Amino acid sequence: MLNKKTIRDINVSGKTVLVRVDFNVPMNGKIITDGTRIQAALPTINYLIKNKAAVILTSHLGRPGGKFNKDLSLAPVAEYLDNVIDANVYFVNDCLGQEVINAAAALKAGDILLLENTRFYAGEINNDPDMGKKLASLADIFINDSFGTVHRAHASNVGVAAHLPSAAGFLLEKEIIYLGKAISNPDRPFTAILGGAKVSEKIAVIKNMIDKVDWILIGGGMANTFFAAQGFRLGDSLVEKDSIKIAGEILSKAGRKLLLPSDVIIANCFESSAEYKEMQMNDVPEGWRIMDLGEKSLQEFGKIIKMSKTVVWNGPMGVFEFPAFAKGTFKLARLLADSGAVSIVGGGDSAAAVAQAGLRDQITHISTGGGASLQMLEGEPLPGLMALDEK
Ligand code: AMP
Repeated sequence: MLNKKTIRDINVSGKTVLVRVDFNVPMNGKIITDGTRIQAALPTINYLIKNKAAVILTSHLGRPGGKFNKDLSLAPVAEYLDNVIDANVYFVNDCLGQEVINAAAALKAGDILLLENTRFYAGEINNDPDMGKKLASLADIFINDSFGTVHRAHASNVGVAAHLPSAAGFLLEKEIIYLGKAISNPDRPFTAILGGAKVSEKIAVIKNMIDKVDWILIGGGMANTFFAAQGFRLGDSLVEKDSIKIAGEILSKAGRKLLLPSDVIIANCFESSAEYKEMQMNDVPEGWRIMDLGEKSLQEFGKIIKMSKTVVWNGPMGVFEFPAFAKGTFKLARLLADSGAVSIVGGGDSAAAVAQAGLRDQITHISTGGGASLQMLEGEPLPGLMALDEK
């Protein structure tokens, strides 16, 4: 289904291969607190080493705003990589310049060179043609394995691809295939579950998905704007006033396909120690706010999940950072894990909830790219994918 070349379609033996990976990992100081994204890139890196390529890895980390920031150095990632891979791992303190050119030229087959954070240069996110050209000049082949940035046109993914034979790595291929099939040809019934804070960021997703899904379940803060469109008063709950009209239009178009929580947990302030209670959905008293969905809603959502053959989930059902309001999100993860449906989870918060609940192995596919998976659900093209060579 992927009409792009993949790493298997290119002879990499004896070549220098530049790989854009997504090593944008969470860190506490110099400690990597979750190496999932590094682990996810290993199949591609190991394949290249085994096939006698010299490997140059590029990635961004955080948002340094186009200038050097020692707290966002990829040096700790090089150390991590050295511990999990059986190869020489080298690191240079830059991603452009003479030192990089020398280090790249010195690589032998099976060696790995990790370059410094590409976003230390403003040219990265501006897709500066010169930066793309310079990165490309280091190698013979370009592989994109960074699903997390595939929805962006940057120098290290789109710019370089203009100058080298290019293909998708194993992770990018896997992500596109799972999500692509779910969207274009899902086993039915097909359900989308959307949560998180802002409906405004997911309107395009809802509009694109509404004709494709059998059900769409909405929870989290974004449900509030739909409640406002239904005429409820919402106390101090998060509501996006500018989106109430469009939420109303979506509700009338979607009809019974779209389910909102029928009961909610409300709290008297936005704190983990807040006083809270459950209520049937109705006007929220002044001074109170919706923080999670209730037990009855979970049962209703659970019934639909059980009937579904494919479920895509993006966004938490409540303020899950506070344990008192995390039940809805964790229980939803459990319902999904137990469902037997093809389950696809995207978005950092939902993926973190699945991991914290210890359910990672029971979900069919956890996407490494929240923004990219949303863009796919919106039906929008992915520039990083489009830039790769066709089969
Ligand atoms: P997003 O980045 O849009 O996916 O939103 C994730 C955030 O939504 C998390 O930080 C949650 O705490 C927040 N969230 C979920 N439900 C609510 C709610 N009812 N009120 C306020 N914030 C919420």
